[in-house]
Amino acid sequence: MDPISLTSLDVTNSRVLLRTDFNVPIEGGIIRDDMRVHAAIETIRWLLEKGAKVVAISHLGSPKGVEPALSLRPVARRLEMLLGEPVGFINDCIGEAVKKEISQPSGPRVYLLENLRFHEGEKKLSLEPHFVAELATLGDYYINDAFGTAHREDSSCVALARAFKGRCGMGFLMEREFRFLKSQLQNPLRPFYALIGGAKISSKLGVLEKLLEKCDRLIIFGAMAYTFLKAQGIDVAMSLYEPDFIQIAQRILNRAKDLQKPLILPQDLVVSQGLEESSLVRLVPATCDLPEGFQGVDIGPNTVQAIKFALKDAKVIFWNGPAGVFEQERFAYGTREIAQELARHSATTIIGGGDSAAAINAMGLSDKMTHVSTGGGASLELIEKENLPALQALEP
Ligand code: AMP
Repeated sequence: MDPISLTSLDVTNSRVLLRTDFNVPIEGGIIRDDMRVHAAIETIRWLLEKGAKVVAISHLGSPKGVEPALSLRPVARRLEMLLGEPVGFINDCIGEAVKKEISQPSGPRVYLLENLRFHEGEKKLSLEPHFVAELATLGDYYINDAFGTAHREDSSCVALARAFKGRCGMGFLMEREFRFLKSQLQNPLRPFYALIGGAKISSKLGVLEKLLEKCDRLIIFGAMAYTFLKAQGIDVAMSLYEPDFIQIAQRILNRAKDLQKPLILPQDLVVSQGLEESSLVRLVPATCDLPEGFQGVDIGPNTVQAIKFALKDAKVIFWNGPAGVFEQERFAYGTREIAQELARHSATTIIGGGDSAAAINAMGLSDKMTHVSTGGGASLELIEKENLPALQALEP
């Protein structure tokens, strides 16, 4: 059964503990991409209109204990700007002081508590067994709007939801992501093509296997491609690949053959002797061994043309993971070309979060896509497993 929608709960004048995903990139106290803060506004405004007090909780990064560089304080200031009303920041997420502060009648209507992962109970409840019970005292209702974290078993996503049985539900962002991805990807219009890139090879092989069954064409690029090229017997020189996953890559290649589904790998590659400004860069074919001492960093123009051609008649396109080391302008060609092609395309275009969403946002193309997900890992896991732990925990 689907989780309950926020609108089905009577939260009027109550305290709502709101799990958000404010895990945003912060450098030197400056937020580099605030898509996830923007994405939380709709739910917070709706709650405020109902007269609710909002106690927002989130994690940021993967701290080992308290790490000031991973404080959510800068997010509180950004949230305040976007909401246009004061946001009280509290420098812990549990304890008497937190409880006392949020219960002040003259206090702000919105609070953001400090990084949940500063407590070890967030990742492992057995290390801090009172963690969830203490968080649970901070709200009458629990709403989860953290789609980007919905594939995690973290205490604030799963155990906390269970502590609010019958008083919990999905926020608007969570519900939109869940319903859109489920409806578009479980029974997609055809042809449905998937592009998978990026570097997290081991965590994406499961979804590749699933996508191969579901989609009509699978396109693999970025660092993902090198494990597949290696499985085809090509020497990938210094390129990033995962030796432990060559066999699985081989299995996927064989399965594609059995299913007679095109699996498109790069035809040509930009290779570099390193990632420094001065490194020697060459364009080489991907069908023979890569030159010694070089690593693949981007796809070449023949690959870009082949992908554009392959996508022509698409009705639905799903894209996760950049085509190269796009953080460096000179290796961003493939990622930029793919992003522009999708922006022009008449198909339903779905960007599966992560770095591809960051690239789309940085290029100002997000409005040209049908859906830019706020969760990379979550959207991939929703495709792979057809459910997510945080959503399951919200089921009535
Ligand atoms: P992911 O989180 O799996 O989507 O991976 C994103 C990362 O993949 C980005 O930081 C890219 O720089 C990196 N990446 C993409 N292509 C390559 C490549 N050919 N070699 C090394 N890293 C890559």
